[in-house]
Amino acid sequence: MTALTAARDLFTDLTGSAPDGIWSAPGRVNLIGEHTDYNEGFVLPFAIQHRTYAAVGLRADDRIRVTSSFAHLTVDCALADLDRMFPVESQGADRDVPEWSAYVLGIAWALRALRPDAVTPGVDIAIASDVPVGAGLSSSAAIEGSVASALNDLWSLGLDPVTLAQVGRRAENEAVGAPTGIMDQMASMLGRPDAATFLDCRTLETRSVPTRFTAEHLELLVIDTQVTHAHSTGGYRERRASCELGAELLGIRSLRDADTSDLPRAAELMDDVTFRRVRHILTENQRVLDTVAALTEQGPRAIGDLLVASHASMRDDFEISVPELDLAVETALAHGAIGARMTGGGFGGAAIALIEHDAVASVSDAVAQAFADAGFTAPNIFTVHPSEGPRRDA
Ligand code: ADP
Ligand code: MG
Repeated sequence: MTALTAARDLFTDLTGSAPDGIWSAPGRVNLIGEHTDYNEGFVLPFAIQHRTYAAVGLRADDRIRVTSSFAHLTVDCALADLDRMFPVESQGADRDVPEWSAYVLGIAWALRALRPDAVTPGVDIAIASDVPVGAGLSSSAAIEGSVASALNDLWSLGLDPVTLAQVGRRAENEAVGAPTGIMDQMASMLGRPDAATFLDCRTLETRSVPTRFTAEHLELLVIDTQVTHAHSTGGYRERRASCELGAELLGIRSLRDADTSDLPRAAELMDDVTFRRVRHILTENQRVLDTVAALTEQGPRAIGDLLVASHASMRDDFEISVPELDLAVETALAHGAIGARMTGGGFGGAAIALIEHDAVASVSDAVAQAFADAGFTAPNIFTVHPSEGPRRDA
């Protein structure tokens, strides 16, 4: 059964009738630009073909009911109740609904804050998805984008994609309590087939950058290591703190205000660990710009070395890789990948490898074999391609 059908069936189970419509939004993968988002720098993600579907119908009253194939549970409250449920004080605190439902209720809450009078009547929402959860492919942005698009249409709010991305971020930061940047929502909202989204995280300026993977007979392989490290949240906070300290020592508002020419000065001003954290951000920003230029001027075969350099920087300077990610990258490269790197926040999650279309089976087999030989859990390996943003499916 497809996720679209699952969402429709779930809605019918919930309400006994058909939804007014079904909307979907994609997950995303980050091609390059890691941990640069909260430093107001550059990222280059693209929306993928995996999507989350929201089947939604208007109600006769002012209640909001939410269910998901993810949890098989229905959460029900009045729209007005949202204002006393959110924002949550801190991660997980003061919220009496399950975390997954806060992604959905948080969208309605954030829209209500923007357009208090227009957010009515109540709605029933049923969610199903084929985006892998927690693999670094942003199932969170996909659920936010599908629900935001559905409610924007059904409540006739007329909000543009960038505003809906900001609504998604607000839901995630303030209703779920996850301190994330806006990259994921922008990548999902602005997705286009055969293109990545260059995003300036300071100005929110975006540019669609053609990837030409298919035309060049290339595939982007995702190697989900299935590793989730308990200290990933702490590690993320620590890295953010190091970046803030680095900026402070350089006397700038954020690391965006520096570039690689500031590295000699940075080396004088800070301890070795802070310096290496800063060096990752400054060189990674440059690599994003170089990747955009390479894609535009030379095509996707020219970005391999930048992907490899990005991985080395995350492994050695930012220290967010794990042995499984390093093995995935090294094995893919040893079997002919044009480039490979870990993607996402680190401490687990997925690696990506840019490979020839004809090499999908051989590289996948080699990585699976290397993981077996090392005694690691079998990875989940699949290809992704740049795909369109939110749409109405039914
Ligand atoms: P990622 O975005 O990398 O997949 P996150 O931790 O940011 O990981 O988001 C995953 C969380 O989003 C899940 O734990 C769940 O709370 C919520 N979520 C994602 N997809 C769904 C879904 N289909 N139904 C309900 N909740 C979902
Ligand atoms: Mg997420």
